Amino acid sequence: MKKEPFVTKEQLDEIVKTYPTPFHLYDEKGIRENVKALKEAFSWNPGYKEYFAVKATPNPFLIDILKEYGCGCDCSSYTELMLSDAVGVRGEDIMFSSNDTPAEEYVLADRLGAIINLDDITHIEFLEETIGHIPETISCRYNPGGLFKISNDIMDNPGDSKYGMTTEQIEEAFRILKSKGAKEFGIHAFLASNTVTNDYYPMLAKVLFEQAVRLQKATGVHIKFINLSGGIGIPYTPDQEPNDIRVIGDGVRRVYEEVLVPAGMGDVAIYTELGRYMMAPYGCLVTTAIHEKHTHKEYIGVDACAVNLMRPAMYGAYHHISVMGKEDWPCDHQYDVTGSLCENNDKFAIDRMLPKIEMGDYLVIHDTGAHGFSMGYNYNGKLKSAEVLLKEDGTTQLIRRAETPADYFATFDCFEIGKKLLEY
Ligand SMILES: *Cc1c(COP(=O)(O)O)cnc(C)c1O
Repeated sequence: MKKEPFVTKEQLDEIVKTYPTPFHLYDEKGIRENVKALKEAFSWNPGYKEYFAVKATPNPFLIDILKEYGCGCDCSSYTELMLSDAVGVRGEDIMFSSNDTPAEEYVLADRLGAIINLDDITHIEFLEETIGHIPETISCRYNPGGLFKISNDIMDNPGDSKYGMTTEQIEEAFRILKSKGAKEFGIHAFLASNTVTNDYYPMLAKVLFEQAVRLQKATGVHIKFINLSGGIGIPYTPDQEPNDIRVIGDGVRRVYEEVLVPAGMGDVAIYTELGRYMMAPYGCLVTTAIHEKHTHKEYIGVDACAVNLMRPAMYGAYHHISVMGKEDWPCDHQYDVTGSLCENNDKFAIDRMLPKIEMGDYLVIHDTGAHGFSMGYNYNGKLKSAEVLLKEDGTTQLIRRAETPADYFATFDCFEIGKKLLEY
């Protein structure tokens, strides 16, 4: 499928007058339509709730849009909890799905009334010692081990992942938690990431629903919810077929009716913790071509770098690139599109066929709305960009300003040299 940017060259000509490149741009209309479709797909389940994975796009303005549709927050750190609290998402609207959790994070999660999702059986004692009690509602993260396959395709390798409890441990954990006063239980698992197939959630649901029936029978606890977590992916490459959320929702419904309903568990709520699926296609990184270089290869240097988007450098991830205003030109030039870091992996594309690029052209790097800005860092002292919201009415709103050198040097403010750097 042809990948089209959600913004036009003409709109960008206007936007860059106020916000110089590079910046991340988000599509309010796309975000709203997508969350509506998700809710609709799971509307068969009265307790259904999406807890947006804050780490994907930790911006309060964007979380606030999702909140309008009843979304909660999936947090796994102190600052993510703070952010959730600040936008008014509190209590059981927070799912705290952390791992290797520091004590002070459990303290804040408990203070905010979050649902705590325990990553390990040893955390029961740690939590009880830390907060002085076991919450009435509690969740445990499950890891069945082995390989997670759909037909013969290996989706991911849970046996090699640090998360969750084994089958034996989760049963033991439920018994211990029940004996300590827990009343409502949840089960969570995240077994494959960025799945571009309608079969992942239904397959995962089957694993979790069967566990839920077994655990309810074995331990006598009441299972309130099953959390399918994240993992629904998006088509980063033009040849991939996008997921159909209605087919996914319906697939989960069928497994629910096949496994849970006959076991008398038709009151179980389905929760999700989607990140990528909620935001990735509705964000892009807008950057300008500033250098061309003809050596052993053809290079285009842009004003963004891996600090703004790490996935290509970190995972070799493909992000589609549109050269704005040349969407219909032939892709008859082969380029490496690079950033300015002193790291040879700072390339947004390698050997990519694109239209002929002139200096000053805007490049839109697609699908950066999740795990894009948020993975950013400050290597080479490069500063993080602004985030801008393209609103439904076509106007723009700044939703995070760009970093300045003063932000970068702020942690020297307690030293004499800090004064010099901050007054520069
Ligand atoms: C990262 C993460 C998610 C979101 O994953 P996506 O692939 O972005 O959907 C959900 N839950 C937990 C616990 C995570 O760590």
